[in-house]
Amino acid sequence: MTELKKIEEKLKKIKDEVLACKKCPLYKTRTYPVIGQGNHQAKIMFIGEAPGFSEDKTGRPFCGQAGKILDELLESVGIKREEVYICNILKCRPPGNRNPQSQEIEACTSYLERQIEIIKPKVICTLGNYSTGFIMKKYGLEGEIQGISKIHGKVFATDDLKIIPLYHPAVATYNSNMIEVLKKDFKILRNI
Ligand code: URA
Ligand code: SF4
Repeated sequence: MTELKKIEEKLKKIKDEVLACKKCPLYKTRTYPVIGQGNHQAKIMFIGEAPGFSEDKTGRPFCGQAGKILDELLESVGIKREEVYICNILKCRPPGNRNPQSQEIEACTSYLERQIEIIKPKVICTLGNYSTGFIMKKYGLEGEIQGISKIHGKVFATDDLKIIPLYHPAVATYNSNMIEVLKKDFKILRNI
């Protein structure tokens, strides 16, 4: 079996488990879970927060308003969406897009951890505070966690992985100056 086939089988197993998952109450209110999308051997993985309205209706990550901004950011540095892998901390939408709760993050993140282990990205871009906090803690960078306004655009290097905290693209939907900040941070991805 080719390496890619093995990867695809493992990701399919995660998909099946998430579709049947009842580990937290969010399965009751979601339409579709959003597992992840993109290149299964991606060098760069983006991790958002949780599905919003459009994502919940389609099962695809970042396909609504925040997704348009993410597409614009990727295009600004010449990266195609198909090259990267995009997923979230939570696979099911919190009602009304409320913040993820810590018990939900605890229940759900073993799926994300397996996705990282299977896809083996060289770079993880965390979008927003929740994803940044979780990933930095996972890789022993707990002591360096600060709010996203302080650490966005910095590169944290571990043995074989770079972690780059970024503002969540949704911030640019209600503050148009933020797109420029995001574009400036995305430039790091050109030379990584
Ligand atoms: N916001 C997120 O964090 N993830 C999505 O998939 C969409 C919006
Ligand atoms: Fe399961 Fe995660 Fe959905 Fe909760 S959010 S039901 S843990 S897949």
